[in-house]
Amino acid sequence: MKFIQADVLKQKPTDESKLGFGKIFTDYMFTMKYKVGQGWYDAQIEPHRPIAFDLATTVFHYAQGIFEGLKAFKNEKGEIRVFRPEENFKRMNRSAVRMCIPEIDEKLVLEGLFELLKIEKDWIPTSPGTALYIRPSIVATNVALGVHAGTEYLFFIILSPVGSYYAHGLAPTRLLVEDFYTRATVGGTGEAKCIANYAVSLRAGEEAAKKGFDQVLWLDANEKKYVEEVGSMNMFFVIDGEVITPMLTGSILPGITRKSCIELLKANGYKVSERKISIDEVIEAQAAGKLDEAFGTGTAAVISPVGMMEYKGRDYVVNNNEMGKITKWLYDTITGIQTGRLADTHNWVVKL
Ligand SMILES: *Cc1c(COP(=O)(O)O)cnc(C)c1O
Repeated sequence: MKFIQADVLKQKPTDESKLGFGKIFTDYMFTMKYKVGQGWYDAQIEPHRPIAFDLATTVFHYAQGIFEGLKAFKNEKGEIRVFRPEENFKRMNRSAVRMCIPEIDEKLVLEGLFELLKIEKDWIPTSPGTALYIRPSIVATNVALGVHAGTEYLFFIILSPVGSYYAHGLAPTRLLVEDFYTRATVGGTGEAKCIANYAVSLRAGEEAAKKGFDQVLWLDANEKKYVEEVGSMNMFFVIDGEVITPMLTGSILPGITRKSCIELLKANGYKVSERKISIDEVIEAQAAGKLDEAFGTGTAAVISPVGMMEYKGRDYVVNNNEMGKITKWLYDTITGIQTGRLADTHNWVVKL
């Protein structure tokens, strides 16, 4: 693979407790271009730097873009560990089909990622709770104002050493159950990891933040009745010993952390249901003292306990605003497998 050396390397962060999330980027990135009639070409590793685009570039106007998010870790032996990367590129191709973006060769981009990670190994933080966040993306780069699928694309992978996703770390989050705004509809793009889904979600997120909430809990678009997911996380509830997560209906993002949790819970004898769950069922369970735990799952925060939900002006506290047992077990198990502290019982980690 072609490698273009940077003239100067950046200063690496010295204090891993101050990384934040997605603010610092490494020296190099992987890129690859696409042209109709030619296919994907020019796969290479080059310095991460600003690149100029014409202001009539398709993605700026019509949001034809998709992305992924995954993490790499490094153990004491200096071994690089990547969590389920094949799953991310498989999902990226499903998102690509939905958004009329040409599919990528999953093997080729995995190789590109692994080579990039080997070059950037010294950027992988090792303190508890930190990781190297990996952001693959594809955007339409041809210059045209007509509303059509792009004819040229850029695939890129950029890397960012990160700490906790939330400034308050693993403290239970406060969710506002959103009963007006909609994130996604069945038949829309909810199950694709496309950039426009996030633009759509910002307004509700901002209003919730102003009222002191961490995230919005989305309900289904049609009836505003069934729980869908949280900002960038899938949602789980533990009710009366049953672990419940909303089934994938087409408007919910099929999270890889969600899938990993389901597999872990099932392998360890928990009763797990993927089904429709209404917000009324959650609230009734809380009133009856049967809502044992609630948590979100996603690559960035891994597992995020929910301590409180507000719905139609009323507050519902979950588990005394404390992290529940299953929530903690999942967090410890997944982060343990990721970092190598625990055995990789499901063969999820690619070691470099
Ligand atoms: C990425 C994402 C998730 C979590 O998916 P993971 O694969 O677990 O990181 C959940 N919801 C939305 C809307 C997302 O974009």
